[in-house]
Amino acid sequence: MTERGTSLRQFTTFGIDANANCVVEANSADDLITLFKNDPNAKVLGGGSNVLLNADVHSTVILIRILGRDIVCEDEQHVWIRFGAGETWHDIVSWSVDQGWGGLENLALIPGTVGAAPMQNIGAYGVEQNSVFDSLTALDRTTLTEAPFDAPSCEFGYRDSVFKHALRDRAIVTSVTYRLSKQPIVNTAYLDVRNELAAMNVASPTIRDVRDAVVRVRTRKLPDPRVIGNAGSFFKNPIVTADQHDALKALHPEMPAYAQKDGTHKLAAAWLIDQCGWKGHRRGDAGVHANQALVLVNYGAATGAEILELAYDIQASVLEKFNVELEREVNVW
Ligand SMILES: Cc1cc2nc3c(=O)[nH]c(=O)nc-3n(C[C@H](O)[C@H](O)[C@H](O)COP(=O)(O)OP(=O)(O)OC[C@H]3O[C@@H](n4cnc5c(N)ncnc54)[C@H](O)[C@@H]3O)c2cc1C
Repeated sequence: MTERGTSLRQFTTFGIDANANCVVEANSADDLITLFKNDPNAKVLGGGSNVLLNADVHSTVILIRILGRDIVCEDEQHVWIRFGAGETWHDIVSWSVDQGWGGLENLALIPGTVGAAPMQNIGAYGVEQNSVFDSLTALDRTTLTEAPFDAPSCEFGYRDSVFKHALRDRAIVTSVTYRLSKQPIVNTAYLDVRNELAAMNVASPTIRDVRDAVVRVRTRKLPDPRVIGNAGSFFKNPIVTADQHDALKALHPEMPAYAQKDGTHKLAAAWLIDQCGWKGHRRGDAGVHANQALVLVNYGAATGAEILELAYDIQASVLEKFNVELEREVNVW
């Protein structure tokens, strides 16, 4: 357990200035228990890559730094690895690829920690973490006991899980176990990944090639939070009914939309925002990224309130133009 002062600025990728009563690293479940006994209202942060600080935090902020990579069991086809919640996500993706174990490679370079990955069921390039998820352990902050969760009890959905609803702020993830494949089949369903592999002159990609392709695409397309503050996609891609989709398509035939298995359609939030003229918009130090309309950025000294106000205005204009509600993906504190 290490105290890290009171400033939160360096602990979220938006780089927003705000303070907590104190910031402390937890290296074990026992540390968490001690910290929650001291401050039952303490909040937890992993890599801070999905949090917008809108105010000072009047409690302890616990940085989850629980490490560990343990083989739980294996058979001829799979290996089950338990990762500590504080492991850096991209490091465990790369490490798994280096072992020859497949399943996580499409999720390379997503910032943040293992423990936060199930919260919004992170996803990218055609894969979500629940496709290889086995189970997790979480500490219940009210009873201070750890309990296992299997996949059904996590209620994973698109950027969603039970930890964003009934168990929000209650279950603190301490480890996650993934079932990785020893005979991986690569997923190159996404055009960006296929194009990048072609540019790399790779005809029969391995998981390493897919990881490298994803890293190259992401490095080119997404703003690096070390250079410009951001939390990735600020909004989720909205899901609309078939009727809503048909009505919108009639008005905007060029609108991108992806049919879902349940008959609904997923729209591209970035396209909707772009159509409302927001791409590249800047208001003080808060802005909409010039190449990625879905990414709100802090050019340096923006406050959380300024970013949030911009987000509200974007939501209002998308609602007015398309009658579609954009839901925030980022957690606001
Ligand atoms: C440039 C960029 C690109 C991104 N790309 C993607 C992408 O492609 N796909 C995607 O899905 N996301 C993406 N994200 C969002 C973000 O990286 C993920 O949501 C990531 O999982 C957040 O991890 P974190 O450790 O930083 O979480 P934090 O931001 O620290 O926390 C997020 C939330 O989870 C809670 N939390 C954190 N750790 C725990 C824990 N151990 N137990 C319980 N609650 C916890 C926090 O209290 C908070 O409410 C991107 C972000 C950035 C900055």
